[in-house]
Amino acid sequence: MDCKKIGAFLARERKAARLTQAEAAKKLFVSEKTISKWENGRGLPDTGVLVNLCSLYDFSLNELLSGERLEGENYRKRAERNMEELLSQRRSNRRKIALSAAVCGAAFSVLLVCVALSAFLPLDPRLKIALLVYGFAMAVLGVGVAVFADINAGSFVCRRCGKKFVPSAKEYVFSIHTLTARKLRCPFCGAKDWCKKSLQNGDE
Ligand SMILES: [Zn+2]
Repeated sequence: MDCKKIGAFLARERKAARLTQAEAAKKLFVSEKTISKWENGRGLPDTGVLVNLCSLYDFSLNELLSGERLEGENYRKRAERNMEELLSQRRSNRRKIALSAAVCGAAFSVLLVCVALSAFLPLDPRLKIALLVYGFAMAVLGVGVAVFADINAGSFVCRRCGKKFVPSAKEYVFSIHTLTARKLRCPFCGAKDWCKKSLQNGDE
């Protein structure tokens, strides 16, 4: 998805419809800042506003995602490619997140087994220590792999400026978080705020 091209297209279509950014914002129930964000290629409209956007400027969803007016054979081809791009990005990001959870779970199971074995089996103390060290090493490795896979799946959305970004591993590990959001510093506007996970990759 080419955000810059889509943005330029949106600006062109808005002017063709003889609307100012403020007027368009009002009709779409979004802020003027959001309109300008889209038009500058700093993010795509949310799914919820897509239908209204298409009817306001009178183009199809396919044309919006292509960033140009389309016709005939060209239209059908672009439609397929746009859908494929959208779906495959989400699919691969979902897979990465599932993998990350599985690896993390497996690593902690190994740790648990090691701790249990060393606690309940009459083993040589040196062997117990070796077991524990092994268990912890596996857990650390598992968390490392899980963090790597999760960071690389999609991106985080800054609440202040709306840009998408991928945090550094260190920042990711040491940030407080809920299931779907994380408190991160936005590299664009510098705000430290709760950022929602997005399955779409960054804006680049
Ligand atoms: Zn920001």
